[in-house]
Amino acid sequence: MTAKIIDGVAIARSVRVGIAERAGALKARGVNPALTVILVGDDPASAIYVRNKVRACAEVGIKSEVVRLPADIAERQLLERIRVLNDTPSIHGILVQLPLPRHISVRRVVETISAGKDVDGFHLYNVGGLVIGQTVFPPCTPYGVQKILEHEDIELEGKNVTVVGASNIVGKPLALMLMQREATVAICHAKTRDLTQYTILADILVVAAGSPNLIVPAMVRTGAVVIDVGINFVDGRLVGDVDFQGVRRKASYITPVPGGVGPMTVTMLLENTVAAAERATAAARLHAIDA
Ligand code: NAP
Repeated sequence: MTAKIIDGVAIARSVRVGIAERAGALKARGVNPALTVILVGDDPASAIYVRNKVRACAEVGIKSEVVRLPADIAERQLLERIRVLNDTPSIHGILVQLPLPRHISVRRVVETISAGKDVDGFHLYNVGGLVIGQTVFPPCTPYGVQKILEHEDIELEGKNVTVVGASNIVGKPLALMLMQREATVAICHAKTRDLTQYTILADILVVAAGSPNLIVPAMVRTGAVVIDVGINFVDGRLVGDVDFQGVRRKASYITPVPGGVGPMTVTMLLENTVAAAERATAAARLHAIDA
């Protein structure tokens, strides 16, 4: 068997067409969908991620601005900047690029962002919504994985899904989202004993561990769908968590790294930002009718 290689770039492009149309419809009604990204300090990787987000916003007609703050900014001042943005109706989405300097609490920062503008989906309110199946803003990377599965018409109902990686931003929310779609989900992490006993059962195997070559063919069921979220640099090369060349001979579908899940993450940020603008516009209209 040779797997179909899922083209995340092409899927992202097609999803972005729909997002651009929605942004255009908002503009026709006088609303300019807008995202503010806060970048604290001068971490080079963060600067690249922020630049990519700004470029992607421009491509679909979302206005974006970057607020650059020094690495030694007091947490109190950062929280104040966020509160001002919360109270600015023309800003629909707020994102604070992680990681933050060690003296700043990520939790306090995330909880300060208004839940209705939390387009990363990290606020406790949004996490709670996900847990009870009333998702407000799904976190972008798991949302991207879900879109890939939808795009490829991969059935989830009743399927065995194994998610390797249990972080708050990828593994756990993804497991919840797929459980919501009536899959049976196992979540594995670094302390899981005998990882293979879980991966071998998976109809759909999602790997988000940050460990190159973690998944080798012997761990994969023949015909499984394999989604590789991992991003690792090995000898100057970008690779995922899956032995791509080996596993592609056993799987039915596989995502490459790069060009698989990566392009979908930023795309889903755009989707969440347009959704935030649409909801804010609908709420303002209702308010106007009430008044
Ligand atoms: P993270 O916070 O470091 O979490 C990694 C998770 O994997 C943890 O739950 C950890 O277990 C588990 N893990 C680590 N080594 C393992 C092993 N040998 N066996 C089983 N589980 C193991 O990382 P993350 O933020 O979730 O990101 C995961 C990977 O996805 C990274 O490579 C990251 O760069 C990549 N990523 C990609 C995108 C994208 O857009 N493509 C977006 C976000 C992240 P414990 O909980 O026990 O420590």
